[in-house]
Amino acid sequence: MIKISKAEQAPITLRRRGVTETTNDRNRVSLNHPPFLTGTEKLMDAISEVYGSGPVKNSLLVCHNGKCCYCERKKDRVEIDIEHYRPKRSFTEDRADKQKKYPGYYWLAYEWENLYLSCKECNITWKGTSFPLKNPLQRSRWHGDANTVANEQPLLVNPSAEPRDHIRFDGDAPYPVDEIGLETIEELGLLKRVKLRETRVTSLKHLRNSLNLVESLRSAIELGKLDIVDHILNTQDIAEAVADIEAAILPSSEFTSMAIDFLDGYSVDQRILDLI
Ligand SMILES: [Zn+2]
Repeated sequence: MIKISKAEQAPITLRRRGVTETTNDRNRVSLNHPPFLTGTEKLMDAISEVYGSGPVKNSLLVCHNGKCCYCERKKDRVEIDIEHYRPKRSFTEDRADKQKKYPGYYWLAYEWENLYLSCKECNITWKGTSFPLKNPLQRSRWHGDANTVANEQPLLVNPSAEPRDHIRFDGDAPYPVDEIGLETIEELGLLKRVKLRETRVTSLKHLRNSLNLVESLRSAIELGKLDIVDHILNTQDIAEAVADIEAAILPSSEFTSMAIDFLDGYSVDQRILDLI
């Protein structure tokens, strides 16, 4: 995960229809408060044409660089869902808790700060309605609750905070920096998903090959072995290897966080940059 920085102003659909729908939902819950809070009355579904309207998705696609906010895989527009960080309809304490509790964070269903993009695997198969808190007693249960979301301490990394404060990489494997990272890796199955791990391994292998190539050239230059320098330059695409390394840590690349840890501040030697 890397930090998602959104445009400050919410798309107009959220500022107009989103605000209206939120007001309606709040009024409905205010009028039927006990049945909603006990779960005897289930909440209305949020309107996907509003929170997932074209302008909203377009704006999110830009700030996500077309990537899932959790696993950092690039996805086509149709393969990526609007993700509510705080579940809109109902929540569970974690993946082991099957009991749906009502209501979810209905008053944040159209809230710009609560919306992200996530692949279907992260969104549906893994995270689902999980939203674990350090202290479940502090959960904000309705829009008028004295416990506000500002008082909650989520155990799921917020993509707009700095995810790398919580999850880092050792090779292709994510590891937790703290309790939040630990719970997030578990809830999203970031270590368990075979295909996701294979994709990360392939990406890292490609990056490692590029790094090894550039480093072998640097070493030959360092040792003054001009025949080897010539050989490498004549047989390998150094410019492409350098481009791979430089692109890997850009937010637009897949698995940026993994690449940042793997390269660990590495920069291509100026003598190589002068050659290409
Ligand atoms: Zn994902």
